[in-house]
Amino acid sequence: MGNQEVKAAEAVVIGGGVVGLCVARSLALRKMKVLLLERGENPGMEASSAAGGMLAPQCEADRADEFFELACAGRDLYTPFADALREETGIDIELDRTGTLYLAFTEEDEAEITDRYEWQRRANLSVEKLNANEARELESWISPRVRAALRFPLDVQVENRRLVRALAESVKRHGVQVRTNAEAIRLIIDRERVVAVETSVGVIHTSVVVMACGAWSSFLTSSGSRFPGVRIEPVRGQMLCFALPSPRPVRHVIYSPRGYIVPRRDGRVLAGSTTEHVGFEARVTAEGLRKISTAATEIAPQVGGLALTDYWAGFRPRAEDDLPVLGACSEVAGLFYATGHYRNGILLAPVTGELIAEQIVNNETPALLNRFSPDRFTPVGMF
Ligand SMILES: Cc1cc2nc3c(=O)[nH]c(=O)nc-3n(C[C@H](O)[C@H](O)[C@H](O)COP(=O)(O)OP(=O)(O)OC[C@H]3O[C@@H](n4cnc5c(N)ncnc54)[C@H](O)[C@@H]3O)c2cc1C
Repeated sequence: MGNQEVKAAEAVVIGGGVVGLCVARSLALRKMKVLLLERGENPGMEASSAAGGMLAPQCEADRADEFFELACAGRDLYTPFADALREETGIDIELDRTGTLYLAFTEEDEAEITDRYEWQRRANLSVEKLNANEARELESWISPRVRAALRFPLDVQVENRRLVRALAESVKRHGVQVRTNAEAIRLIIDRERVVAVETSVGVIHTSVVVMACGAWSSFLTSSGSRFPGVRIEPVRGQMLCFALPSPRPVRHVIYSPRGYIVPRRDGRVLAGSTTEHVGFEARVTAEGLRKISTAATEIAPQVGGLALTDYWAGFRPRAEDDLPVLGACSEVAGLFYATGHYRNGILLAPVTGELIAEQIVNNETPALLNRFSPDRFTPVGMF
């Protein structure tokens, strides 16, 4: 479906990153007529393309809370989701099940991984503790300075740019109208109910709007009635990309408390990242490059000798409590949020799509969404 004029839709999803695409797909699978608005030339070119694609709820988790439960549900959905995408589109999103390693180089790092290992073992989660030799037997590129490691066999990765392509193809096949170069500007609200979206390409009438604008989710205003709004800030993450020799010498995703490397099937290795509160400046900086390279070479000194082939920066969408913002807005009927996924939007996109679609279609809040309601914030009050 191209950019033909659409003046009404059963549901309008604003934002064509992985989150908006997954919500649109899940709604279309439930037979809703969906219009997806993306202001860029193509869907998924922002954070969803900048990410590392790690699906790693356990690797950095220090307790089993509601977020951990959601993240594990997100990870568990990926196998059937990847299979369905391949069937629908022929695109393999490269769900790689080698697993994730988390390395300790200092005494503090060791204390951190010991605590993590112990609580996860007590919770019967799948985690292995390795000494330095065992870690280096698994991955010979790991630095000889490593003291110990954890292996998370179920924490895996996908190729997120392939994911974006597969989703864009899948939603079209399911009948979603994807309107690119189309920016949502204002929600039109009448008597506390969404009635339309004003966009750069005209007004679209609808009674259901899903806000999935990623780091730009606070920019939409409204007319006709007060619109609570949710404050989402951009957190810049820079990423470096190197060329690995062949055959590929690294298989696991490997973290330390200071960074990570992600080997890809096509012979690239990504190294990340930074966490910067600098507004929307999409730059890679000398300082970012230095910090990421230092962390990557601490993990695997050979990375220091690889050719740097690419680099980029993206904006993670962050709410003030670091948690995603998911579900119906109680003050405006028909308005739903699917944003604030911060460091885990690739992991959480499929489960977000399913839960939001369930809530919209059944008019009931799935239990997994309760903790993430947009109503937990004091309204920022836009007009
Ligand atoms: C360096 C880095 C590494 C990361 N690594 C991982 C990882 O390993 N695993 C993981 O799970 N997550 C990771 N993330 C986080 C993940 O990328 C994000 O959480 C996720 O991509 C957010 O998806 P989204 O669809 O909400 O946002 P985006 O992908 O940013 O999409 C939002 C879309 O909305 C569009 N838009 C905005 N405003 C409007 C408007 N008014 N009208 C129309 N369209 C609009 C934008 O153009 C954009 O395409 C990483 C992020 C970064 C930056």
